[in-house]
Amino acid sequence: MRRGNAPDYIEPTVGWRVWLVVANDARQLCLRSIAFVTVWTPRAELRARCIRPRRLLARIRRESPHEVPALGCDCGIHAAKDAAAAVGYLSAYEDLLKGVALHRVIGTVSLWGKVVEGERGWRASHAYPARLFVPPSRDSSPLPAEAVARSLVGYGVPAEPISERAHPELVDTLASAGLAGAYPRCTARRNR
Ligand SMILES: [Zn+2]
Repeated sequence: MRRGNAPDYIEPTVGWRVWLVVANDARQLCLRSIAFVTVWTPRAELRARCIRPRRLLARIRRESPHEVPALGCDCGIHAAKDAAAAVGYLSAYEDLLKGVALHRVIGTVSLWGKVVEGERGWRASHAYPARLFVPPSRDSSPLPAEAVARSLVGYGVPAEPISERAHPELVDTLASAGLAGAYPRCTARRNR
């Protein structure tokens, strides 16, 4: 994978994100951002762009394009500092994304290039998924988690269904967000 202009000796920052799983024009499953119609292409870095200079108000004010991510703007590829800060996106905008999202996955994302730190996470100029965890099927996402994980193998990073045995902390995080219905024993474990 090409890593842009980032020197190899700089370790990427690793954050947490939630992605939609959508079907592309070739009917293959791929990752998409939630708030934007940005598809994350397998084996290609994602580079952030800022759409603000194209907006009418910015054009009237003659704002010039800026380096991404910029202070005072919201641009850049967003990632949270931990799973707990990202997990809410597993159920966000469900009505809006009905018929678009076949499933959702949570995972870690490598951030590099220009990275701006905020209170709860980062905004970066470059990103690529690092590790993908697939929650169980829900009514809104009927595909089996195993099938979703297999379909994401083209990204070349670990993609696995979330299991209580292998990922107890992640299951706890899902439980605290009210999303652990498919893990029958986690309530008992949390009460121990
Ligand atoms: Zn911007």
